[in-house]
Amino acid sequence: MPLGVLLLGERPRGGGYWWDFALVLGYAGLAMMGVQFALTARFKRATAPFGIDLIYYFHRFLATVAFALLLLHAGLLWWKYPEAVGSIDPRRAPGHMTLGWLAMLAFTTGIVSSLWRKRLRIEYDRWRRLHVLLALLGVVLAVLHVEGSGTYLRSPWKRAAWTALALSWLSLAMWVRLVRPALLLRRPWRVTEVRRERGRSWTLTLAPERGAVFAYQPGQFAWLTLRASPFALREHPFSFASSPTRPGSVQFTIKELGDFTRGIGRIQPGERAYLDGPYGSFGIDRHPGASGFVFIAGGVGIAPLIGMLRAMADRGDRRPLWLFYGNRNWERVVFREELDALAGTLDLTVVHVLGEPPADWRGETGFIDRDVLQRHLPSGRADLHYLVCGPAPMIRLAERSLDELGIPLKQLHSEIFDIA
Ligand SMILES: Cc1cc2nc3c(=O)[nH]c(=O)nc-3n(C[C@H](O)[C@H](O)[C@H](O)COP(=O)(O)OP(=O)(O)OC[C@H]3O[C@@H](n4cnc5c(N)ncnc54)[C@H](O)[C@@H]3O)c2cc1C
Repeated sequence: MPLGVLLLGERPRGGGYWWDFALVLGYAGLAMMGVQFALTARFKRATAPFGIDLIYYFHRFLATVAFALLLLHAGLLWWKYPEAVGSIDPRRAPGHMTLGWLAMLAFTTGIVSSLWRKRLRIEYDRWRRLHVLLALLGVVLAVLHVEGSGTYLRSPWKRAAWTALALSWLSLAMWVRLVRPALLLRRPWRVTEVRRERGRSWTLTLAPERGAVFAYQPGQFAWLTLRASPFALREHPFSFASSPTRPGSVQFTIKELGDFTRGIGRIQPGERAYLDGPYGSFGIDRHPGASGFVFIAGGVGIAPLIGMLRAMADRGDRRPLWLFYGNRNWERVVFREELDALAGTLDLTVVHVLGEPPADWRGETGFIDRDVLQRHLPSGRADLHYLVCGPAPMIRLAERSLDELGIPLKQLHSEIFDIA
């Protein structure tokens, strides 16, 4: 659409094919960069069909493609039209060209720090603040570069259309970073309980300071901010481990992993919290017609699944259920007593799979793979819906195994905890 606008009305002539092609790459790359603000704006309706994990993967993919287009734009012009590009030295170059180079620098830093964040050992929260800053800076500088160079934007209405487009991207960023945090500030929550669980995990119970808990579905998640303002960009995503059938509070079960999660045990009841949610499309309620469910969890991937099991128990759901639950050892199995109790209330078969089993262990060992699944699933397994949650390698293995067992892709739903 942004390119379509450029083609309407009066067009510049005489540039030649490669000139026009290089400019189009620039406009297309910038428009795709701008669209990233919409992708990451967390519009519930837009993200619901896909799930936030896929949206973030798509964002990463699309931003990389957009960056490649911008690189080609700059590279092609530099190679074919060095006189038009001029000097890279800001003292000798026109202002708008310097702005273009600075935009490229911001985008390059943004892409490199995102693709190789872990390798560069950039702490997540710090990276996130840098990412937002670089994205905003890159787009603003690039729009000023486009407006300054003016090719294709000579007519006032084209310039107005592109300016409006750029402002719409920036207003999305303002919505996410300023308006939504301000709304969260008006709806604070309190921590009411912090409970230690097995496997270096904690269950945190929160209740709204005023009013009722928002409506959510089992399996969804919210962004949690503790000991910080919602403006501080220190929020972390956690799945509801509680069931919406028990109103008044929500629970999250959180495994100690890094700086933020290692501090959960030090949180005191009475402390203030902020919750942005609910989000996500992972859960039983999206598949009301399913004849039964198979849950596959690795470690703390049990969190959204226990929420679903609790909801089903409260609702008196009698559909057949299987839970394949992988853990390193028996001591780490979060909720293992509650799962025994749930197996008595629900039509639930729990299959524990241990990586390092005790000497007297008679259950499954190793990983949740094709053989383990095949041994316990019924012959009508292709009619069931499968919900998989845990670390990415576990999800990949489970998905491959289910595919080999002939489970249709449309009945397979997964939630990846590692979106960054
Ligand atoms: C949809 C979803 C639901 C989740 N539900 C749960 C849950 O119920 N229980 C649970 O224990 N964990 C859950 N997680 C994972 C949890 O968000 C991370 O473990 C936590 O944010 C790690 O933060 P940290 O600072 O302690 O660790 P770090 O060492 O800083 O991070 C470890 C990894 O977690 C990810 N991460 C860190 N901070 C964030 C952030 N702000 N936003 C997104 N990802 C981040 C990054 O991939 C990072 O490499 C969920 C993740 C997602 C995406």
